[in-house]
Amino acid sequence: MKVPFQNLRALYRELKDDLDSAYFRVMEHGNFILGEEVKLFEKEFANYCGSKYCVGVASGLDALTLALESQGFKTGDEVIVPANTYIATWIAISRAGLVPVPVEARKGTFQMDHEKIGDAITERTRAIMPVHLYFQTPDMDPILELGRESGVKVISDAAQAHGVRYKDRIVGSLCEIECFSFFPTKNLGALGDGGAITTNSSETYEKLLMLRNYGTKRKYVSEIIGYNSRLDELQAAFLRVKMSRLEMWNRKRRELADLYAMELEDSGLEIPRPQPYALPNWHIYPVMSDQRDKIQSKLNKADVESIVHYPIPPYLQGAYKQEHFTRYDFPISTEIANNILSLPMHPYMGKEQVEYVSEVIRS
Ligand SMILES: *Cc1c(COP(=O)(O)O)cnc(C)c1O
Repeated sequence: MKVPFQNLRALYRELKDDLDSAYFRVMEHGNFILGEEVKLFEKEFANYCGSKYCVGVASGLDALTLALESQGFKTGDEVIVPANTYIATWIAISRAGLVPVPVEARKGTFQMDHEKIGDAITERTRAIMPVHLYFQTPDMDPILELGRESGVKVISDAAQAHGVRYKDRIVGSLCEIECFSFFPTKNLGALGDGGAITTNSSETYEKLLMLRNYGTKRKYVSEIIGYNSRLDELQAAFLRVKMSRLEMWNRKRRELADLYAMELEDSGLEIPRPQPYALPNWHIYPVMSDQRDKIQSKLNKADVESIVHYPIPPYLQGAYKQEHFTRYDFPISTEIANNILSLPMHPYMGKEQVEYVSEVIRS
């Protein structure tokens, strides 16, 4: 049985009529940059996230970079970041002229360890950037409390976390600023690149509107040195179609994850266990094993796609070699990179596919 990691074609087939009519709507009105669709999407997404404002931008990386730039930090200021995350979180910090200060993962959760953040705060720390990784959030209340106590902003990387809940609060309004990606394979994905930032601060909102559009409030009047980083009108139209299915898709993912958990309970693999505070969105379904490479090649032979998220952690990337981190600096994150494997997980997957994947692993 062939089990692909994703199936964006099945998604297109199901939504074809709505996506096609969104396309024709944009073609007909002919307003391709910052038109009505972007405005409506921003309103609808802010609403979904329980947030006052949303600003659509060109990618998840830009959402993170612009969010940091909007705060007026100084070159060389420090931002606390998880050791275990996708490289984009670190790159955004560096691109904004700031210094990433990594914090180790918490065992069994994959998330940044909230108990280790305090020690990383210095007089140069300006922000904590938690990442809501894989399927849940870190333990946010202690992190938000730490931010308040130390006068440091909490700006999240929510690129994987559309629809995740923390203690009944939805991601998008947990932190002062939250940054999303709409890369096609995210739980809410565009049909190309896209990103967004949510916030309740009108000041941050106004600044972000300028930053994404050449530093302008009025056409041809640049008040600051901004970017060209706008959410595309066509992508906004597609995202509006897909957003109406997000909750249903996430429910489907939870059903599949429950089935995986049942099927793999006695397989010898470490299966992901959401924290009691979390309602997961299962962006990915990561298992852990010291036989990871063997399992992956066995799955390959059985026509099952799997992916390692991520094979090289940011602190060991060539891009950060000048920092001289070693694999021993963050042993839990290093273990994650060595042992993690993401099994196929998407809302168009059938139960029989989960059963088949599990059977291959058990064998
Ligand atoms: C996908 C992702 C990003 C970057 O998003 P792009 O839209 O690809 O720029 C950032 N952080 C995390 C954790 C991601 O998974």
